[in-house]
Amino acid sequence: MPHDHADGNPAAPAESLAGVGTWSLDLASGRLTTNATARLMLGWAEQDAAPGLEDFLSAVHPDDRARVDACSERLIKDGEDYLVEHRALLPEGRVLHVRSSACAERDHAGWTHRLHGITLDVTDLRTSLDEARRARDRSTAVLANLTEGYLLSADGVILEVNEALCALTGFDREQLVGAGPQYPFWVPDRVDEMLEMRQSLRDQGRVQGEFEIARRDGARRVVAYNAACVPSDEPSLLWIMLLRDVTEERERARGLERRAASDPLTGVLNSRAFRDALRSAVRMASTDRPLTLALLDLDHFKRINDVHGHPVGDEVLVAAVQRLVGATSGLGTFARVGGEEFALLMPDTDAVAGRRIVEQALEALRATDLPEVGRITASAGVAQLEGDMSDDTFYRLADGLLYEAKDLGRDQVR
Ligand code: GH3
Ligand code: MG
Ligand code: MG
Repeated sequence: MPHDHADGNPAAPAESLAGVGTWSLDLASGRLTTNATARLMLGWAEQDAAPGLEDFLSAVHPDDRARVDACSERLIKDGEDYLVEHRALLPEGRVLHVRSSACAERDHAGWTHRLHGITLDVTDLRTSLDEARRARDRSTAVLANLTEGYLLSADGVILEVNEALCALTGFDREQLVGAGPQYPFWVPDRVDEMLEMRQSLRDQGRVQGEFEIARRDGARRVVAYNAACVPSDEPSLLWIMLLRDVTEERERARGLERRAASDPLTGVLNSRAFRDALRSAVRMASTDRPLTLALLDLDHFKRINDVHGHPVGDEVLVAAVQRLVGATSGLGTFARVGGEEFALLMPDTDAVAGRRIVEQALEALRATDLPEVGRITASAGVAQLEGDMSDDTFYRLADGLLYEAKDLGRDQVR
C-alpha cells in the first residue's frame, strides 16, 4: 500500500496501515480533500486527477444513495454525526461494503463550514456475516423440515427444539426451551432411566435406543432416540438428540410376532414357538429347579372327523384347548404342537406334581359333554428334565411316555 507523504498529511502512513480512508469537505468552496487510502478504496488511481465531491457521491451504490443522502443532509443542516454502512460501486463494477462516519465542524458563529469523515472497507466482514447468516438460515430450514423431533441441550438444559419435537411431545417451544434437568415429556417413574441415559451419553459421547415419553395430554408414546455430544469450544456440554415416534411400528411388530407364534385355529402358542421356548428353558435349567414337560394327544380323534366331518373336528379341537388351558392356566406354557397334540412345559414342577396337573387336565376334558360328539379323552406322557439332557431328548422322552399311555389303553397319564 503506498504511503502518501504527498498529501502533506503526517498521519497518512498510519491511516494507510489501518485501512482508514479520510475525507473532508469545505462547504463554502465545495473542495473535497481525500487521503490516498480513501482514493484507492474507491478505485481512483494515484495518477488520476483528485476526485471532486461529485465523484465521491457517485461512488455510493445507487440502491443506498437515498439513505446516505439523508445522513448527509442531517449532518449539514443539524450538525448530526452519522455512522452508516453502505455499498460503493467501483468503476470496474466491483461492490464494496464500507462503513462511513462523518461529523461537522462549525465556525465561531456556529455555522457548519466543514465536514470530516472516514470510510472503512468492511467487505470481508460483511461477506462472512452474510455467509454465517446464510449458514444459520440453512440449519434452521433443515431443522424445521426434519420429520424427527430435535433438541439441543447445554448441560442438560434445552436450548433449541424444532416443530417436530413440539408435535411429538405436545409441548410448546416455550415449555421445552429452558427446561432441565428434567424435561416435561419424561415419564415421572422413569426419571432414573433418563438420568442413566444422560450419563452414558457423557461417558460414550453417543447413545441410541428407545424410551417411553409422556405427552402433554398424558398419552404414552415409544420413541427411538439418537443422541450425540457436539464438539464445541463452549464451556458447557452440548448435545443433540433426534427422536422418532415408533409406537405404531412397535405395536405392529409385536402383533406380527404374536401372530407368527400362535396357532391360527386355537390361538395358543404354535409348535415352532413352543420349541423355541423349550430350547431356552432347557438351556437355562438348573439342577435345583425342576422342569417338567407333558405331551397330550386326543384319543381316536380321526373318528370324530370321519363321523362328524372336519369342521366339527375343528370345533372339538377349540373346545378341547379351552378345557386344557383352563385346567392348567398359570402352571406352565401350553401349545398346540401337532394336529390334535398338545404340550405343557411346567417350570419349577417335578414329574409327580406335573402328572397330578395333567391328570386334572384330562379329568376336565373327560367331564365335558360336547354337543354332537359327546365325551372326549386324551392320553399324556410326562417327563422331568434330568442331567444335561438336550431339549430333543427331553421331548422324545415325553413322547415315548405318551405312546406308552396310548398302548396301555388311552385316557391316562404315564
Ligand atoms: P390316537 O388315539 O392314536 O391318537 O388316534 P387318533 O385318531 O387321534 O390319531 P391319528 O394320528 O390317527 O389321527 C389324528 C387326526 O387328527 C388325523 C387328522 O385328520 C386330524 N387332524 C389333524 N389336524 C386337524 C385339524 O386341524 N382339524 C381337524 N378337524 N382334524 C385334524
Ligand atoms: Mg390322537
Ligand atoms: Mg396324534
